[in-house]
This record gives sequence, structure tokens and C-alpha cells, in this order.
Amino acid sequence: MATHLKNDATQLTGRVINIQHFCINDGPGIRTNVFLKGCSNRCKWCCNPESIRFKPELAYNINKCIGVKECGRCLKPPTPEGAFYVLDGPDDRVRVNWDMASECGEETASVCPTGALYMFGHEMTVEEVLAEVEQDQSVYIESGGGITLSGGECTLQPQFAAALLEEAHHRGINTAIETAGNAPWEKFRQVVEHADVVLHDHKVMDHERHTRWVGTDNSKIKANFKRAYEEFPDKTFIARTAVIPGVNDDEEHIRSVLEFIKPYKNVIDYQLLPYHRYGEGKYGFLGRVYELKDFPYVPDETMQRLRAIIDEAFGRSATTPGQASPQDKSRGSTLQMEGAA
Ligand code: SF4
Ligand code: SF4
Repeated sequence: MATHLKNDATQLTGRVINIQHFCINDGPGIRTNVFLKGCSNRCKWCCNPESIRFKPELAYNINKCIGVKECGRCLKPPTPEGAFYVLDGPDDRVRVNWDMASECGEETASVCPTGALYMFGHEMTVEEVLAEVEQDQSVYIESGGGITLSGGECTLQPQFAAALLEEAHHRGINTAIETAGNAPWEKFRQVVEHADVVLHDHKVMDHERHTRWVGTDNSKIKANFKRAYEEFPDKTFIARTAVIPGVNDDEEHIRSVLEFIKPYKNVIDYQLLPYHRYGEGKYGFLGRVYELKDFPYVPDETMQRLRAIIDEAFGRSATTPGQASPQDKSRGSTLQMEGAA
């Protein structure tokens, strides 16, 4: 395929978690979502925990282990001694010493015949990603869809992400990004420049609560969004909040976001996504703890009430109570692609 990128940037590599086809609610039409690895935030409710670290990382699904009597390959070199072990008793499936296994890589995963051990994150070139994305061209034509870069924080791989979007454009594919905005401005700008639609998170407006729940200062995020609204007046921005009970499920947060976006005509919508736990299982696969496992779901009435505030601000009629909103699906979880891995 002929490219218009300089210096054959289609051979640039980036760290990809997976490519998910036939996604809705991640930009116009039916999308192909490309999840990139690495994020600068630490949201306690993150549904893609495997996207946070930049390095590829090992995961383990005990349900796929056939036991050491039958197999036991991961107990032998090249796997470091002690990284895997078996408990006393009849269950001979391996357990993981995550302090040691977190240093294991592809070599370890490759010995496992069942896929119980597997890697999150691998290098792909721009060309390889687009070859897969282009398989959905007919779906894009029919639905008005395209490619959406997600993560993780896609703007933290700016050269790769920008090349991917630029080349997608060149091949006639609509482009969107999902971003939480926590990146140095130059990197952020470099990627936004090539996105037709920018889906961006206003997670927590209050500074102290943002630090507590997202793990980072939100002043750079707000500055990036404001500057992007101003420097890219012709792009489509869609603000979003994943509504987390007790964190941002209050009118004050919603009104604060509305106030923030109000001066900018290019912010065409503000969408609310209900809290879900689709990613909870992956914490276990990575040897981590999901801190919000006892959190309640947000009642439908709360979502309706908060959406009504937004509808009023945008001058449109409210979503019918009891009717599923098209937004009732949160930002894509890579779990769907991994088939619960
Ligand atoms: S290599 Fe895989 S299937 Fe075999 S014992 Fe280890 S985890 Fe289980
Ligand atoms: S910004 Fe997104 S990917 Fe990053 S920690 Fe938060 S929810 Fe997870």
C-alpha cells in the first residue's frame, strides 16, 4: 500500500494491547478500537488495568492451567526458579509469585501450551495495525465509522499514534481518540491534530478529589483540554465522565464540567457512562487487587437525573426514563477482546 508518510513511518512501532472490532459508542458509527499500552493516571476504577504499565506484562488465568502432573513446563528453565509454585494438596495448578514473575516475559508465556500464561502488550508497526483495521472498511462505509485509539493513554505514544491516524486518514478512514488528557502538551497536540473526533474524560473536576481517586494532579489535564478546544476549533470534541458512586455522581461535578466546556462550540456533547466492573477479573490475572470491589452501581435514577441536567444545558429533550441510553456502555474494556482471557 502506498503511503504518504515521510521516512516510511508506517514501519514505526508502538506498544499495542489489542485491536477490538465492531465497537459502538467510541466515536461515530461502528469503530475498530486500538488499545495502546501505558497510562499516566491511576484511576481506582480502571477497567483496563493491563493498559497502565508501559512494559508488556505477564498475566495468568488459573482456570486454563492443566496442572503440573500433566504439564509443569513453567516450573523449568528459562522461567526463573520460584516464580511459579504448587500448593500442598490435590490441586496441582500452579500459583504465581508475582514479585518474581513480573520480570518474566514472552519467553515464559511461550512455554505454556494452554494460554494460561500470556502477555499483555506487544509491538506492532503502523502498517500491521492498519492492515487489521482496514479489514473493516466496508463496515466504516456503511456506518460512518473508523478507527479509535484508546488505552491506556494513547497520546503518550505520540509518534506512533499520530502516524497511525495520519495514515488512516490517507486511506480514507475516519479517526477518533479516547484520551484522559494527562500528557505533556506537545505530545497531546501531536495526536489530537490527526483525530477527527476527540472523546475526552472529565473524571473529577475538584483538584483534591482528582488526586485521591485518579492519582494525579488535574491542572495539566484541564489546561490541555482548554488549549485543544481553542487551537482546534474545527475538530469535534465530546466530553465524557464515567460516573463513579461517591466520587463524581453529584450535580456539582456535572455543572462544573458544563461550565468548563460552555464557551466552546466545538464541544458538541457531554456524555455520562455508568460505572461497571468489566475489568475486575483482569486484576486477578495480573496479581493485583481491585480496590472498588464493594462499590455499588449507580442507580438508573441518578444517571437519569444527571443526564437531564446535561440535556437541559444542550437544549434537547431528556432521555426517556427506563429507556436504555445509547451511552449505557462505558469506555471499551479490552476484556471483551480477550474473551475473559
Ligand atoms: S505451563 Fe501453563 S498449563 Fe503448564 S503448568 Fe504452567 S501454567 Fe499450567
Ligand atoms: S485514564 Fe483510563 S486507562 Fe488510565 S488509569 Fe484511568 S481509567 Fe485506566
